[in-house]
Amino acid sequence: MTNQTLRLSKSRVQSGAQCTLKLWYDCFERDLAPPVDEILQFVFDRGTAIGERAQERYAGGKLIDALYYETDLAIEQTNEAITDPTVSALFEPAFIHHNVSARIDVLQRVDADSWDLIEVKSASNAKDVYLRDLAIQLWILQGAGLNVGRAGLLLLNRDYVYEGKQLDVDRLFKFVDLTDEVLAMRDEVEALVDSLHAVVARDAAPQIEPGPHCSVPYKCPYLAHCTKDNVALKYPVGKLPRISPNKLLQLEALKVEEIKDIPADFALNAMQARVRECVVRGEDWVSDGLAGALANITYPVYHLDFETFMPAVPIYAGTHPFDPVPFLYSIHRQTQAGETEHFEHLCRASDDPHRELAERLIADLGDHGSICVYSAFERTMIKALAHRLPDLAPALGSLAERIWDLLPIIRTHYYHPAFRGSFSIKTVLPALVHGVDYEGMEIGSGMAAAIKYEMALGLGLGDEKEREEIFDQLRAYCKQDTWAMVELRRALGEKVQ
Ligand code: SF4
Repeated sequence: MTNQTLRLSKSRVQSGAQCTLKLWYDCFERDLAPPVDEILQFVFDRGTAIGERAQERYAGGKLIDALYYETDLAIEQTNEAITDPTVSALFEPAFIHHNVSARIDVLQRVDADSWDLIEVKSASNAKDVYLRDLAIQLWILQGAGLNVGRAGLLLLNRDYVYEGKQLDVDRLFKFVDLTDEVLAMRDEVEALVDSLHAVVARDAAPQIEPGPHCSVPYKCPYLAHCTKDNVALKYPVGKLPRISPNKLLQLEALKVEEIKDIPADFALNAMQARVRECVVRGEDWVSDGLAGALANITYPVYHLDFETFMPAVPIYAGTHPFDPVPFLYSIHRQTQAGETEHFEHLCRASDDPHRELAERLIADLGDHGSICVYSAFERTMIKALAHRLPDLAPALGSLAERIWDLLPIIRTHYYHPAFRGSFSIKTVLPALVHGVDYEGMEIGSGMAAAIKYEMALGLGLGDEKEREEIFDQLRAYCKQDTWAMVELRRALGEKVQ
């Protein structure tokens, strides 16, 4: 096949809409992307599982079972099934138009010659990128001669409450009719497809420089390749906290790339001006109010961090899709004399963890002393537990009142150039405490922790060793977060001595 006749898929059209070089690499140099890691694979598999759940809504539906790369066979099977009046819906049917193919999640028969197009998403809100996805599919179906009545997204319904026995798949999902919106995108899709066919028909890759488009709407897998020769800027202007796209354009027009080169009269907000000042002077900044803010604490101090996961399909009675479920906490208790003690609790089984975790938490946090956290999340989770467990609400409410949040204190009273515009604990910790960081940890983010926990719960009976390894990694990650708070309070205290 020559480039002139290269068939595109719906996914590749989406890829090309983000960046034509990305499309080129997808088509001709796929090996430039790193292999899919286990976390991303888990996300893909979860999407597939949700698609299969959605199929349960359509009794009498038929699955087109040709594999994803067997497009011609899938089209053949689709053409056969579509003429069978007993088939009420098709799952994964294949169509082609203008040399662009697509597999459709669900095609539901409305009457003898009319169908609804349904795209299933593992999400609860419609995004712009989903609209284009749907518009491409509608364009292909109509181009292939199908009469489409409605086109819409099947999303997970955040209003659905799982009652604990059997999932109600009709209420688990909600259909969002986007027919008018995607019909209006028809010319846009056609022009996009024409331009992308032209891109892949060329002999050479398009010349595209990396930029903001590399992470919107999806992080591009070729980023490491595209930026391998870039000279890393030490403090790029994009690292200014909450810098607007408009301001970045103004700085680009001034050819300013580094924060230190921003002209003194360039308008910045107070935080951005402080960051610029620290970078120019190469020094940290300490406010006069830091000592008072740090002293406003009651011992013993309990440093607390939760890990949660968010099942897309609820698995515990009384929860909605994507409700955060706490499964692990770490506490470092510190006395005024500086002695520390560690507590933790990990829910090891797939049983509902809420009550077990809440009761242990109440016991471990005692009845007095500040509860040091790093973000508003722990307070939100404690309040959610109180809402779910009314008999424990008074005790949990008392815990919420003892919370002392270190994040706004650092944000208001301290800055170090090595923060590079971020107040994430993973950035702040190594900047303030030399030799203590998250490097080399098996789990490097809350999102990875959530997915690893779901993976551990899904392991079979013979996989105890692997499950225990994941549990150890999770405990180590959570423990590092609370130890980080102990160290940060100590390091900040030294700044004001
Ligand atoms: S990293 Fe950026 S420039 Fe390179 S292919 Fe991806 S989107 Fe395009």
